[in-house]
Amino acid sequence: MSSVRVRFAPSPTGDLHVGGARTALFNWLFARRHSGVFVLRIEDTDAARSTDAATQVILDALEYLGLDWDEGPIKGGAYGPYYQSQRLDLYAEYATKLMESGRAYECYCTPDELDQRRQEQIKQGQNIRYDGRCKHLTEEEKRAFKDEGRVPVIRFKSLEAGETYVEDLVRGTVKFDNITQVDDFVIFKSDGMPTYNFAVVVDDALMKITHVIRGDDHLSNTPKQIQIYEALGFPTPKFAHIPMILGPDKSLLSKRHGATSVTQFYDEGYLASAMVNYLSLLGWGYDDSQTIFSIPELIEKFSLERVSKNPAVFDIQKLEWMNGVYIRELPLEELFEVALPFWRKAGFLSEEISPEMKEYALRILRELQSRLKLVADVVDLSRYFFVDDYPYLEEIVEKILTKPQTEEILTYVYDVVKDAQALDEATLKPQFQVALEKFGIKMGDLIQPIRVAVTGTNVSPGIYDVLELLGKERVLARIERTQAMLKERELM
Ligand code: GLU
Repeated sequence: MSSVRVRFAPSPTGDLHVGGARTALFNWLFARRHSGVFVLRIEDTDAARSTDAATQVILDALEYLGLDWDEGPIKGGAYGPYYQSQRLDLYAEYATKLMESGRAYECYCTPDELDQRRQEQIKQGQNIRYDGRCKHLTEEEKRAFKDEGRVPVIRFKSLEAGETYVEDLVRGTVKFDNITQVDDFVIFKSDGMPTYNFAVVVDDALMKITHVIRGDDHLSNTPKQIQIYEALGFPTPKFAHIPMILGPDKSLLSKRHGATSVTQFYDEGYLASAMVNYLSLLGWGYDDSQTIFSIPELIEKFSLERVSKNPAVFDIQKLEWMNGVYIRELPLEELFEVALPFWRKAGFLSEEISPEMKEYALRILRELQSRLKLVADVVDLSRYFFVDDYPYLEEIVEKILTKPQTEEILTYVYDVVKDAQALDEATLKPQFQVALEKFGIKMGDLIQPIRVAVTGTNVSPGIYDVLELLGKERVLARIERTQAMLKERELM
C-alpha cells in the first residue's frame, strides 16, 4: 500500500483558472501514479470572498475534467469535499497550543497603526514586517487595550535568527532568511478566523498530506508554514512548487489573454480528454517529442522529476489543435453525446430525440467530425441541416449566385433532383456531367451554386452527402427558396 497523500486546496473566490486546474491535475496524477489518496479541501475561511457559487464552479470543473477525490465527509452517498469553515474548532485548538507553548501571542495593534508603520518602513527603505511590539505585552497592558475596545489578532512568534530551508522537489533547496523573510505573521484574525498560512498547516498535518504540490506563487509562504509545522511538532511534508503559466506575451496568464477559466473551455466545447492532455503539458513533459497522452498513459508516466522550474506558456492554438485531434478520435456515439447539449441550446434538437433524428444527427457528425476544432462549432457548421430558413452568406451570394447562367443551372439541377431515384453520387454525377457540356462549365461551377443554394454557404461536406442527407423534398424547396431570393434581388 502506498502512503502518498496529496490535496487540491482551492479558495472558492472566483472561476477555476487553468492554473488551478493544472495544480489539481498534477496532484491527481501524482496520487493515481502512486496509488495514493487525492483529497479536495475547499479553503473558505475568507468569508467575505468565498461563495457557494464559486465552490460549485470548482466541483463542476473537477467533474468535467474527471478529477475525482478519494475521501471526505459523505454527502449524498459520495465523498463531499472538506470545508475549512467546518473545521474552525481545530484551528482554534492548535492556535491555543501555540499560545501555551509560547510560540504565538496576542497582538493589539490596529490596522491603522500597522499601516502607518508600514509606510514608515517603506520610507526608510526597510523590509516590511511586523515590528514585534506586542510580543512581550504584560497582562495589564493587554487589559488596557481590551478596555479600549481593541480585539486582538494572534501572531505566530517566528524564529529570530537563522534560515529556513525549503527542500523543493522542483526547485531544489531554497533558502529563506528568518529575520528578513519571515516576520511574526497573523495566524488568527480578530474576527476569529484563521489565516491561510495557519489553517493550511493544521489541515495538511492532520490530513497527513505527504506532498504539497502547488503553484510557485506560494513558495514565499512555505518557510512560514515550515516554521509552524516545527512549532507544532508535526512532520513537514515534501513540497513541489510548480511553475507559473504565462500568456503568449510572457506576462502572467490572465483574462486579458482570452479564456482562462475551466468553465469557459467547457462552454466552448473542449473535450475533457484534450483539456487534461493539454494541462498536463503546462510545466511537465515526458520527452521532447510526445504531445498526445491518454489519461492512463499520463498516470503511468507522470513524475515530479520531470516538472520544469521554468514558466509554461499557454498556447490556445495548440489546445485547439489538440481538441481537434481528440474530436477526430471520438466514436460517433460519444461525439453525439457531447454535441447534443450544443444542438439543444441552439434549438436544433429537443429533449426527445427519435431514433430517425438520432440517425440523422450521427450522419451529420460523420460528415463534420474532421472539420471540428471545438464541439461548439458544430452549431454553425450544421445549421442548414436543421433549419430551413438558414441565412445566406452575403458575400458568397454576391460572388457565386450572380454569375451568368445561375438561374438556368439551378433550374436544371432542380429538374434532375426532382426526377432522381436517389440523391447519391452514382445517380446524380452522370446527370451533372451532361450539364457541364450543355453550359460549357466545369464541375466546380455547377456544384458551387448548388451548395450555396441548399446551405447558404460555400463550405460544407461533399455535395452529394449534403443532398442525400437533406433529401429530395428539402433540396427542391431550398432551390425554390434560393430562386425566389434571387428574383427578389433583381426586382430591387
Ligand atoms: N487556498 C490556497 C490557494 O487557492 C491553497 C494554496 C495551497 O495549495 O497551499 O491558493
